[in-house]
Amino acid sequence: MAALKPERSASTQLSTIKLISLQNELLLSIGESLHAREVIHSFMQRARNLLNLESIHLYSFHEGPRHSQQIEHDIAAPHGDIRPHNHEKVMTLLQQFTRSEARSFEQLELNHTHYLAYSFHPYGVLLLVKKTAFAPGLPEALISIVKKLARHYKICIQHKQLKDQISNIQDIRKSYEQQAKQDPLTNLPNRREFRYALYQEIAKAQRYHVFGALLYIDLDNFKHINDSLGHSVGDILLTQIAEKLKAQARAGDSVYRIGGDEFVYILTNIGDNKTTAVNTTQHVASRILQVMEQPVSIGEFSLHITPSIGIAIFPCDNENECDSESVLKHADTAMYRAKEQGRNRFEFFDPTMQDEANKRLIIEDHLRKAIAKDELHLAYQPIIGANNRIVGAESLIRWNNPTMGNITPNDFVYIAEESNLILTLSDWIVEHACAFASKLYKQLPKNSDFQYISINISPRQFIQQDFVDHLLDIINRHHAPTEFIKLEFTENVLAQNIDTTVGKMNRLIDHGIDFMLDDFGTGYSSLSYLHRLPVNILKIDKSFVSNIEQQTPEQRTIIDAILVMADKLDIKCLVEGVETEQDYRYMKSRNIYGMQGYYFHRPMADEQLVKLLLQND
Ligand code: C2E
Ligand code: CA
Ligand code: CA
Repeated sequence: MAALKPERSASTQLSTIKLISLQNELLLSIGESLHAREVIHSFMQRARNLLNLESIHLYSFHEGPRHSQQIEHDIAAPHGDIRPHNHEKVMTLLQQFTRSEARSFEQLELNHTHYLAYSFHPYGVLLLVKKTAFAPGLPEALISIVKKLARHYKICIQHKQLKDQISNIQDIRKSYEQQAKQDPLTNLPNRREFRYALYQEIAKAQRYHVFGALLYIDLDNFKHINDSLGHSVGDILLTQIAEKLKAQARAGDSVYRIGGDEFVYILTNIGDNKTTAVNTTQHVASRILQVMEQPVSIGEFSLHITPSIGIAIFPCDNENECDSESVLKHADTAMYRAKEQGRNRFEFFDPTMQDEANKRLIIEDHLRKAIAKDELHLAYQPIIGANNRIVGAESLIRWNNPTMGNITPNDFVYIAEESNLILTLSDWIVEHACAFASKLYKQLPKNSDFQYISINISPRQFIQQDFVDHLLDIINRHHAPTEFIKLEFTENVLAQNIDTTVGKMNRLIDHGIDFMLDDFGTGYSSLSYLHRLPVNILKIDKSFVSNIEQQTPEQRTIIDAILVMADKLDIKCLVEGVETEQDYRYMKSRNIYGMQGYYFHRPMADEQLVKLLLQND
């Protein structure tokens, strides 16, 4: 189409032909683009030239009474600098379009300037400014064009919104996918990714006849840290450990976090014969133990946390048990064995372990119900004083299950320790021991030699924040005299912050409750700790005492050394596991504060103890 001459004279009546071609030109300028800015710009430029405008503006509606319109787009003639929106009357003109769609256009003449405003539904107003009057018929002729422009503009805006939404959804999907694969705390790939990778690596190992290994890493006593220092310290510790483990991984090997304090390594391509595979894995496992030996500093705390590592080599010997489910179970089983063997170590899976693991699961399941089913009771083992009389008794948990029979505490207390079950169990023990202590105290004559019931406290029970208040609450509820209760605990509680430990002990001591350090000689037996702990009785472990005549001179030296040291620190010593006449004689010659063992009495039912004491008194 031939370019139209700009309309020059103000009042000139335009011919119909001219109006139609003007409409056409403007319609064409709208074009097909879906970019709002491009569309409006192209139209404005064309309109300004064809209609000889001073300027052209698109106002959009905004909330608020006065400046209810804002310029969205505008174009002025090369030298035109009119700011129409500054004028009150122009504002009023524009505002007429704010609410109603009914008006198509309005005109206004002000200081020799002509304003022609069109509804630009639903966005605002299109304002044309000209130094001469608009030709008669022109405003009407432009109505359909402006409407078409507004419709197209609306499509552009909707298109943009839709595009934004789609890209938003894509962003969200990407981040979901990322999250689904990653553990948010440590940024390590998560359990789901691990399962998939393990499946693939086993298949590859089978196809190419090479070996791989799965290392199941569980942090020892991590629950203690969460319980005593709080979850945020626990979280920081986990991220630092994740970093340590990641730094250990060779190219091709990968680390995953698959649970609270559980990590796994998959080692790939570690040899085409089993011996090489085992050697390589052993090497990696030792290295992990080594790096974990460095304590982790978090604020004021320096935390030392060790791992127990269970290892399964794949493909397995038994082809029927070589799916990823079984390999994972094997590594998990070996990890439990590492825990049983004293933690901070690794164990390779061997099939006999599986029976053990099954037994453990069965015990845990039964133990959960044992309390409600009234299958537990406490036995009491007398403690003999220097005067050869019974001065106290240790309470010991007993469990009789109808199908499994008598299960010894050594077979179930550690299982309970691995879960929160220990807290329920410990509460049960303290409740029953205090109830018995209170009853016994009332029955004994005032001048009785019998002075206390001692209760074994599990480390996890001790490190609960409310341990002291909770314990005092139970003791008071049973009206048990606090001086009549002693607590036995092992050095495991010292894995915690020593100041907190000492603080709790002192609070209880202030209430008259004394402590005994149990199994002394089997743990770290750290002397530097010992002198800081407000303990006045050591229980020397039975392994140093039982069958003393069969002990080597070195073993006897240890017990003598402990006795000398304790004497210097003004701590009394009690020996447990006195089984024979010889054990008794040896200890008697050593000036011991107290003894306990089968030689005197086995643990007995509460009524039996009462009877024994009343008889003796
Ligand atoms: P422990 O605290 O060192 O308890 C002493 C263990 O030695 C008891 O075993 C006791 O029956 C046994 N024993 C006593 N005299 C002799 C002896 O002359 N020779 C030998 N060889 N053993 C003797 P038990 O009752 O089987 O308890 C084993 C462990 O289970 C306890 O060791 C303790 O660590 C834990 N345990 C027992 N009862 C409780 C309890 O109520 N609470 C907690 N947290 N742990 C408990
Ligand atoms: Ca004990
Ligand atoms: Ca003991």
